Amino acid sequence: MYQERLFTPGPVEIPDRVREVLGRQIIHHRTEEFRQVFLEVRELIKRLLEDPSDNLVLFSSSGTGAMESAVLNFFEEGQKVLVVNGGKFGERWLLLAKHWKLNVIEYSVEWGKSADPERIRDLLKEHPDCMGVLLQISETSTGSYHPVEEIAQICKESDALLVADAITALGVYHIRPSVIGIDVLVGGSQKAFMLPPGLSLLWFSQKAQDRLKDRAFYFSVKRELSKQKEGQTAWTPAISLVLGLRESLHLLLEEGMDRVEKRYRAISEGTRRAIRKLGLEVFPERPSISLTAVKTQDAERIRKELLKHRIRVAGGQDHLKGKIFRISHMGVSDKDGLMLIGVLEVVLKRLGYSVQLGSAVAEYSQALMESGLW
Ligand SMILES: *Cc1c(COP(=O)(O)O)cnc(C)c1O
Repeated sequence: MYQERLFTPGPVEIPDRVREVLGRQIIHHRTEEFRQVFLEVRELIKRLLEDPSDNLVLFSSSGTGAMESAVLNFFEEGQKVLVVNGGKFGERWLLLAKHWKLNVIEYSVEWGKSADPERIRDLLKEHPDCMGVLLQISETSTGSYHPVEEIAQICKESDALLVADAITALGVYHIRPSVIGIDVLVGGSQKAFMLPPGLSLLWFSQKAQDRLKDRAFYFSVKRELSKQKEGQTAWTPAISLVLGLRESLHLLLEEGMDRVEKRYRAISEGTRRAIRKLGLEVFPERPSISLTAVKTQDAERIRKELLKHRIRVAGGQDHLKGKIFRISHMGVSDKDGLMLIGVLEVVLKRLGYSVQLGSAVAEYSQALMESGLW
């Protein structure tokens, strides 16, 4: 039996070049060899973010670890923050901030909608003592994109640090945090970086540096930064994943982030056109290019039929369970995207939809040709 294919927004499939590295014998982390790798990884991340500053740490954790680190290292108990809550991961910011006793103002965004920058401007005016705005760039639970560039312009005029969860955005979008005006940027390994779970990343601006606290132990930015600048980590790092990250960063940088973003734009555009051709609805108002959430009352039936073809997509979470399914584009090639649409046509036809086989595939191919990639 051939292997199941993952079109899930985490974990995503791992490129062969990265898998080859992950399969090697482990090396010791207190060695010159590891130190050189670690320093190279830091340089590659600086190139990825197009920011020469040293304000960058890796943690051995899933993405949520770096989110918790952001809350603990840049804010104090009782400080006011604004949380954009437009899905499962916005809700995670909310829970984290409340857990560490920040004074949380919730900006609740209907799931599937995107944050309105003007609303954030008003809320910051209403709360001039607000010290942070916490959001997702790509809200993976709904497939929505929050307009981070416009929100950053607004935060720049206030005391608030803009804290952006870019776990399904960094490695897909060409994100230059210091150009956009992001203050704390969080990334994770098992999504756009196409690695197994277990590594997270945190980058911060000068404005954030001036507010650095020392409230965390394992997730201490200060402690890690002083070590990591020298190519070491405070605790045992996820050695194999760091080696894998070097490879995946090389993959992204060899292609170039402009071209990577263009590729994801084309795949997501092709997928959305195909979905509409099949009579299904794209769920988010303003879709992220990392994944496509599809709204249909047959979401679970379609997901299960795809599994019979050994294709795994994700369902909806919480109140979206059974109402949407989600197709990840992360780690998926443009050709594999076409394959998925072809199988989806067959699945829908079997479920009784009136489908002209090849019609959605044609939409996808058309979009890729128009993009200039094909
Ligand atoms: C996956 C994800 C996370 C982190 O989840 P972990 O399970 O801790 O890796 C956070 N934010 C977004 C937007 C995500 O997609």
